[in-house]
Amino acid sequence: MFNVTRPQPGPDCSKDYRSQEVIDTLREIFYGKCYLCEDETSNPEIDHFIPRETDPTKTYEWNNLYYICGRCNSIKSTTTDILDCCSTEIDVSKAIKCIVPSIPDDDITLDAQDNHEAAKNTANLLNRSYNEKNTGIRGITRELLHEKIFEEYSGFIRYRITLKSKKSPPQQKYDAKQHLLNMALDSYPFSIFWKWHIWSDPYLSSVLKFGNS
Ligand SMILES: [Zn+2]
Repeated sequence: MFNVTRPQPGPDCSKDYRSQEVIDTLREIFYGKCYLCEDETSNPEIDHFIPRETDPTKTYEWNNLYYICGRCNSIKSTTTDILDCCSTEIDVSKAIKCIVPSIPDDDITLDAQDNHEAAKNTANLLNRSYNEKNTGIRGITRELLHEKIFEEYSGFIRYRITLKSKKSPPQQKYDAKQHLLNMALDSYPFSIFWKWHIWSDPYLSSVLKFGNS
């Protein structure tokens, strides 16, 4: 998860929450990424953060519309009480520790960083988003998602090795550092992983000055 800055007022969605203007604005502010799994999805949908089943009055409310992928939308369903990535009061990427497994088919590790109910609920939901394979289709979408994350992770490792190796020329070290910093931006696919792989790594967090505080 990554933080999203939502323009106020947003586009008019009082009659149609799927209008071109609404979709274009959501795509831009969510960087074309699903707000849960951070995949730059080719299958975008609109999620009602507070489900329509829970509160129908929020169906056409700008602040309740979120950019989501088809896989995560079907998994989230009517889940409530999760962390809000559009809140200005919380850094959502720091709330859930996310680590890539060393074998692509293994489960991604998710760990809520405090005991608040919303953080625990979010970790549970993200665990399902990234790992659930309880149907044939979800087995396929999980595999495709894991392969994308693993491909990015292999780049991350390569940049780290280049940055740390005494054999790397200065320009290559500089480029590797810029790549790693770019991966940690909210706009980058699966940014929460690269943030946590930097924060959890004493070498990278000191060299990139990208501390967990
Ligand atoms: Zn997703």
